[in-house]
Amino acid sequence: MEQVFCKAYAKINLGLDVLRRREDGYHELKMIMQTVDICDDLLFVRTDEPGIVLRTDREELPAAGDNLICRAAELLLRERGIRDGVSVTLTKRIPIAAGMAGGSADAAATMHGLNELFGMGYSLEELQELGVKLGADIPYCLAGGTMLSEGIGEILTPLPAPPDCTLVVAKPDINVSTAFVYGNLHADRLTYHPDIDGMAEALREGNLQGITDRMGNVLETVTAREYPVIEQIKELLRRRGAQNALMSGSGPSVFGIFTQRAQAEAAARAVADEKLAGQIFVTTFHGAAQV
Ligand code: ATP
Repeated sequence: MEQVFCKAYAKINLGLDVLRRREDGYHELKMIMQTVDICDDLLFVRTDEPGIVLRTDREELPAAGDNLICRAAELLLRERGIRDGVSVTLTKRIPIAAGMAGGSADAAATMHGLNELFGMGYSLEELQELGVKLGADIPYCLAGGTMLSEGIGEILTPLPAPPDCTLVVAKPDINVSTAFVYGNLHADRLTYHPDIDGMAEALREGNLQGITDRMGNVLETVTAREYPVIEQIKELLRRRGAQNALMSGSGPSVFGIFTQRAQAEAAARAVADEKLAGQIFVTTFHGAAQV
């Protein structure tokens, strides 16, 4: 095979809890992950020259060694002792540094893409074991869909997808570093923990209200305190008919869940009119990866 095309899907967290900070500095998490229909496109072409060449339409992204795409490709080529090279063309749509795991999704798509391009024959589980070395979200991104995620993000339990609905995802024009958010989180002083087990149960029952009633993200205690725009977007989305609204991951992206598409579209326009966010999507949930 000479070339392979893959889509990398963004995720949101329907719920995100931090149970404790471990002695090694990592945080023990309990999250409900969900892929959404916002994706990057990646085209992989085999080359005779060794090495990985990445072309991207976004100059703010690291173009070589530091990009998670290159790190994922290097890892697989090294593991399999492959001397051929690969050229990767990335079309970026997932907001960057937004709490939507865009880099991890690209790395996961790269692993699937090279597995196919070079006929490596890795199973999903084998790719997940390799991927966790690059990032805790990568095992989830390799599978996609709806998952309970525990540990540092590597212990995954599939859940049924939520009932169909429309989402508004809004990324305000601020940059939030994941390291800053975790560094400023006081895991031992949290007074509120979202009911992740209850949300998993509501997913099993297909009960949308039960899901949206339990949406919560303890990282808002850091990011939303620092950036009031997050609460402003959440309030606007709720006022405009969202069943509920929440920050995703370490932020600053915010999503709202709507049962009526027309309401979601009107809410997205209102976010734009009030200039609360530069990147706004009206989208839906996306199912598990086809592997
Ligand atoms: P998470 O939700 O996993 O914390 P995020 O959505 O907050 O991730 P990313 O978009 O993955 O953040 O980007 C985080 C940083 O990773 C960026 O500042 C960027 O420099 C770096 N990075 C490396 N490779 C990529 C990539 N392919 N796409 C996006 N960012 C990348």
